[in-house]
Amino acid sequence: VAKKRRNTYKLYLPMMNNVPTKEIVLESSMFEALESNQFMLHYQPKLEIGTGRIHGVEALLRWKHPEFGMVSPLEFIPIAEKTGFIILLGEWVLKTACRQVKVWEQMGMDSILVSVNMSMIQFQQRDIVASIQSIIAEAGVRPEQIELELTESIFMENPEQTLQILHELQSLGLKLSLDDFGTGYSSLSYLQNIPIHYLKLDKSFIRGIVTDIRKQKIFKSLVVIAHNLNMKVVTEGVETTEELQIIKEHKCDLMQGYLFSPPVAPDRFAELFRTSKAS
Ligand code: C2E
Ligand code: CA
Ligand code: CA
Ligand code: CA
Repeated sequence: VAKKRRNTYKLYLPMMNNVPTKEIVLESSMFEALESNQFMLHYQPKLEIGTGRIHGVEALLRWKHPEFGMVSPLEFIPIAEKTGFIILLGEWVLKTACRQVKVWEQMGMDSILVSVNMSMIQFQQRDIVASIQSIIAEAGVRPEQIELELTESIFMENPEQTLQILHELQSLGLKLSLDDFGTGYSSLSYLQNIPIHYLKLDKSFIRGIVTDIRKQKIFKSLVVIAHNLNMKVVTEGVETTEELQIIKEHKCDLMQGYLFSPPVAPDRFAELFRTSKAS
């Protein structure tokens, strides 16, 4: 009996100790990944529902890892937040998105609004406003061309300072949007004070809305609230024409989702943009 127990013991422990988990591999290869251009941005168009015009794009991080292939940001962003690497990565994202705006501009694509996701960790930096300002200035883009997508998590620590930062960013001319609304601990109380231009409803909100009358009613009410507060509403994750029909009926301003386009590489977006202008 003792022998048997020892065997199972032996089989189990060495595997736990010697094989690094994917998380550890990802964590330890992030810096090198940034240096060797394994990160890239894809861009997903946002459409004005009323006109069908492309309003802007959301920049979404992609990591092409040599061993694992494409790794989802849902997997590596939390690791980068834990280690603090998100600060460096976030600066790279903003820089890259700003440069892309310039490139598109030089291709004759008139002022495209690019939105960039910001982690709460970035907001805990003392010099966040100066850092954002200098990246934008260095790239030579107007602040009005850049939108920051923020979640309520930025208010978890030091809400007063966060509010102050938002006011500073807004007075620089940046556009602000409240992301992932309708998930987690979303609360209407945030809407009372914060200076934001767009309310972004999470895709979990639109899932099932076609058959769920209660969801439709909540959706409709949120649009009314947002409009009364001078915010525009963006619905994320629109996949079907039926879903589009419903959000259009309820006066949602902008849509983003696979129905029009998934996130795509910059060249592909340029094509999409030309096609949409031509039609
Ligand atoms: P998010 O900000 O809520 O971004 C929207 C996510 O929904 C994206 O996933 C997008 O590809 C996906 N999506 C868009 N349209 C549809 C649709 O019609 N159907 C479905 N099922 N999904 C759709 P993605 O690119 O995997 O990004 C996941 C999350 O990772 C983002 O969620 C965001 O929180 C985070 N993330 C991505 N890039 C960055 C970044 O540069 N910085 C930070 N801090 N976070 C980022
Ligand atoms: Ca987002
Ligand atoms: Ca979301
Ligand atoms: Ca998010």
